[in-house]
Amino acid sequence: MYRDHTKVIRVGDKKIGGGNPVLIQSMTNTKTENVEQTVAQILALEQAGCDIIRCAVPTMEAAKALKEIKKQIHIPLVADIHFDYRLAIAAMENGADKIRINPGNIGNTERIKAVVDVAKERNIPIRVGVNSGSLEKELVEQYHGVTAEGLVESALDKVHIIEELGYDNLVISIKSSDVLMCAKAHELIAEKTNYPLHVGITEAGTLYSGNIKSAIGLGIILNQGIGDTIRVSLTGAPLEEIKSAKRILKTLGLRKGGVEVVSCPTCGRTQIDLIGLANKVETMVQDIPLDIKVAVMGCVVNGPGEAKEADIGIAGGVGVGLLIKHGEIIKKVPEEELLDTLREELLNWKK
Ligand code: SF4
Repeated sequence: MYRDHTKVIRVGDKKIGGGNPVLIQSMTNTKTENVEQTVAQILALEQAGCDIIRCAVPTMEAAKALKEIKKQIHIPLVADIHFDYRLAIAAMENGADKIRINPGNIGNTERIKAVVDVAKERNIPIRVGVNSGSLEKELVEQYHGVTAEGLVESALDKVHIIEELGYDNLVISIKSSDVLMCAKAHELIAEKTNYPLHVGITEAGTLYSGNIKSAIGLGIILNQGIGDTIRVSLTGAPLEEIKSAKRILKTLGLRKGGVEVVSCPTCGRTQIDLIGLANKVETMVQDIPLDIKVAVMGCVVNGPGEAKEADIGIAGGVGVGLLIKHGEIIKKVPEEELLDTLREELLNWKK
């Protein structure tokens, strides 16, 4: 498997690559210069399961703010830099655990060297990122458009520039909003390099389309054993990115833990507000540290049978619900008490 053979890159106290668990990343959307707001968002993301956080560093003030932010958070921080190499240097001097640059927009080799020298001195990894939107003109012409092959060549060119400067503490990312092109580019690059890969579908869209595109793209890529760390990019709250990333990894069997909620699609037999209940259950189980499956089913006809597969389940009746544990009905509860009863069972969970 590719993932087992990638190089291990240390980012703060976390390890990316070499078969280590696939790490979840997100990016703050506060102004990095606003330390208080940025720290509050990072702490909430940590709580939700974010492993590594990235902050945009568009100004010198933002680079300097990293020092204060770092003191108040507990996960490694990546500084995201575009255009100005001095910001990359300042970010590292102010405690960034990793920097993300696109050497293509950092400037000439001298400027890239200045960044690499500081990274080398402090042993700070660099994520070399290329994006389909900024693929070089020559590669677009050579490959007759933006293609997976062009993206791979662009990424490896950037990596070679840094390797020639004597540094190989690198993670690569190739991003495209075209899901299938993105998947193909990852398949191609995984054959050519053993640097760990940061995987994500860029500009994936709003909560709805972004989740679908990310799940399909990351699913195809990760299921082939490719990818060492992920970010689900959503036009939405960063907390949603973490929820989705955790669900994607769990669905692919790449992460254990957390309650999985399965629920029926509802039909003409449904006698309770199942849609409302299933959503409430999904929110309610967020903080429950069990690795079990909960079924929320709409009726007593198929519900008990279908809930058998789960560790615990609810099957709705007329104004009531049945609580089912490992296929056995254990309680009949009024509809309005179902959520609390289920929570109680989970908090006192015994197999
Ligand atoms: S569990 Fe019952 S309500 Fe839900 S889809 Fe199946 S038959 Fe319909």
